[in-house]
Amino acid sequence: MNRILRRAIVKARKSGLLRLVPAAGPVRLDCLAEKCAKCCTNLGTPAVTPAEAEKIGYKFIQKDKNRMYVRSKDGLCCLLKNGLCSRYWCRPRGCREYPWYNINGRLYYDSGCPGIKHDKDQRPDISDIQPFENYFPLSAAELLSDTSPE
Ligand code: SF4
Ligand code: SF4
Repeated sequence: MNRILRRAIVKARKSGLLRLVPAAGPVRLDCLAEKCAKCCTNLGTPAVTPAEAEKIGYKFIQKDKNRMYVRSKDGLCCLLKNGLCSRYWCRPRGCREYPWYNINGRLYYDSGCPGIKHDKDQRPDISDIQPFENYFPLSAAELLSDTSPE
């Protein structure tokens, strides 16, 4: 596992995030946006595709072991300004899909996201969520483990 990813997972788990559970019943996201920004401040910097890097601007991108990520500043995503994403219109797909995850074709959500509600069923279609391997070079067992990587 590369160092950026390891740091991100440890930080996310310490903050209560990246606790993935199957979306087996009614669940929706009611994002608290700038009043929260917990995902932007605790999940580490997002992985980006070459097309996303071009839209965001290469000066904001760093490379690590053949993968590209948004740069971090003081340990946070450098695109976060005053609790909001300064490149919201072209934010990476992983940011747009959070808190939903596609693990082996099954929909999961991050139960640590404070915007998760269970009063209505507004689960996205699994086909709209990219497989987690696209941005987490881990096995499903590693991703679902409650143990932080050391
Ligand atoms: S952690 Fe959840 S509620 Fe908070 S900003 Fe991210 S998506 Fe919204
Ligand atoms: S790219 Fe934008 S939405 Fe994604 S973590 Fe950074 S500030 Fe948050």
